[in-house]
Amino acid sequence: MNRPFPPLPGRLLLLACVLLPFAVHAAAPAPTPWRVGAAARKLTPPGPVWLAGYANRTAPSAGVDLDLHAKALSLDDGAGGRLVLITLDLIGITAELRAHVEREGATRFGLRPHEILLNASHTHSGPLADPARMMVEQIFRRSARPEDVAATEAFAAALRTTVVELLGASLAAAAPARLEFAQARAGFAMNRRRPEPGGGISNNPHPDGPVDHDVPVLRVAGADGKTRALVFGYACHNTTLSGNLLSSDYAGHAQRDLEEAYPGVTALFVTGAGGDQNPYPRRGVPGQTSEQLARQHGRALANAVHTALAARPRPVAGPLRAALAPALLEYDPLPPAALTAYGPATHTPEVVARARALAAAQTRGERPAPLPCAVHVVRLGSDLTLVAIAGEVVVDYALRLKRELAGPAAIWIAGYSNEVFGYLPSRRVLAEGGYEAVGANTRLLIHPGPFAPDAEDRVVARAHALLRSLQP
Ligand SMILES: [Zn+2]
Repeated sequence: MNRPFPPLPGRLLLLACVLLPFAVHAAAPAPTPWRVGAAARKLTPPGPVWLAGYANRTAPSAGVDLDLHAKALSLDDGAGGRLVLITLDLIGITAELRAHVEREGATRFGLRPHEILLNASHTHSGPLADPARMMVEQIFRRSARPEDVAATEAFAAALRTTVVELLGASLAAAAPARLEFAQARAGFAMNRRRPEPGGGISNNPHPDGPVDHDVPVLRVAGADGKTRALVFGYACHNTTLSGNLLSSDYAGHAQRDLEEAYPGVTALFVTGAGGDQNPYPRRGVPGQTSEQLARQHGRALANAVHTALAARPRPVAGPLRAALAPALLEYDPLPPAALTAYGPATHTPEVVARARALAAAQTRGERPAPLPCAVHVVRLGSDLTLVAIAGEVVVDYALRLKRELAGPAAIWIAGYSNEVFGYLPSRRVLAEGGYEAVGANTRLLIHPGPFAPDAEDRVVARAHALLRSLQP
């Protein structure tokens, strides 16, 4: 006899099997104590400015390819733990900007230094905003007209105001939220330290070099479950472009793509340990301009964020705890013969004066003061740990910290955070030499020499110690 339905107990089971998945899916998510607020401001200057990043530019910007933004996300765990993340479409963050934001953040909003995290996208098509550093000495002061100097100073002032304003705006926008973490990968970053047959390291694509292709994503949903903000990271220089147009490069395109895909969402890009990584191809290839390539890399990164969200985001619970402290990095002295190479025929008077002062200090047996490298650790319960390091952090730091901190919490490594003082090479990179080890940091004697080989160990030890201090 045909029985179209199983007997009663079986029927109930069948009914439950059919209905349960819907019931689970439709259940309202449990409320969380998180309160999160996002805010964004355009940073694009109103007129031509000198751009930062490439020393071969000979004129101010010639137009806009893609707008630059500053964005903020305030996180409050409802139990006294809070953090404001500020992301900037800029080449870096000066110590002066960081100090200003800390000061104003404390005075106006009662924020403590460890409650403010700044990260720069390292676009090489953003304005010069550092009136005291290398590009200024090397080119800008020599070539700039008074109106160019005024435009740069106006941008630097507007930047300071905007960042402080964003702290307040993101705190004021705080609303009940849920957090989720997810991760996928994108492949356009490649190691750029190519060993040459005759010895030495050149700045060229090196497919066999180490990379970190992870794309970590923090999704912020409102009480209604709708996406409100997306924070995502990638370890790669933001240098697809090399022209003289203002642009936020691939990181800007990725943010814009996501904001178009999710209307009303604020997308924030966090640069990872991409100090020795470049986006490839770059600077144009046959049939494609550099602007088209930047758009493609941005789309690839946005697609990785979509993929991460489709995978299976994990809920992120509090409490939020953060700690910020410097690792003190010692310098190896430059040989006296190297210092004599900084002469007036090839260098500006400022650089020559620094070389002479360094040589005199060496003669007196003095060692340069160590550099404080900010290490910022943010722990979101046992679900997510973010380690954000100052400087142009090379990829070895991310790979090592992800290995050493592996555990129940997802590990997110950011570079270019809180201050960008130049490159932060690893022990391996220092031993190999090349641009990220010595060349970039000592080219204009912004640093008195290369970092000592234990720089990596000091930074990693600081990260471990800070994380231990945050254990419940
Ligand atoms: Zn760089």
